[in-house]
Amino acid sequence: MPNTMAEPTPFHIPPPAIQSEIYLRHRQWMIRALTLAQAAGEAGEVPVAAIVVGPDNQIMAEATNRKERDHDPTAHAEVLALRAAGEQLGNWHLNDCTLYVTLEPCMMCAGAIVQSRLGLLVYGADDIKAGAIRSVLNLPDGPCSNHRLPVLGGILEMPCREQLQHWFQRKRQVK
Ligand SMILES: [Zn+2]
Repeated sequence: MPNTMAEPTPFHIPPPAIQSEIYLRHRQWMIRALTLAQAAGEAGEVPVAAIVVGPDNQIMAEATNRKERDHDPTAHAEVLALRAAGEQLGNWHLNDCTLYVTLEPCMMCAGAIVQSRLGLLVYGADDIKAGAIRSVLNLPDGPCSNHRLPVLGGILEMPCREQLQHWFQRKRQVK
């Protein structure tokens, strides 16, 4: 086996920006999502991970991008995590849940998030090419949305961006 898995994580976690309990909680879940995403990246997926957390800060579900492994164009981390959280809760209404995701959701995932009536979306890096929360379009605030979605973007934005950039860089080198 080649030893490529042993290289250090390509992202750097900066110290907390502020000492707020809520911020530190978001930060802690985002670090977990980054770690999950890293494993997915090493398995050949674009490294994106999502975690659904319940109202008592308990984990409900976590997932990574699985498009390549499942040959499924809809197998984005957010969709898989929302689906697993609904199953876990026995209810598709996720009003009391928070979804953490390392990258700004695409239009499909933003649609799924609106459908779940999610309580709060927290994401890391903006996706300037396909982001459907604010970068390219704002789907949750659009005319076809029936849910006002609270959003917090930019939590650990830098490591989330570094992780993706590094993955794409390495992919280009391998070609
Ligand atoms: Zn997506």
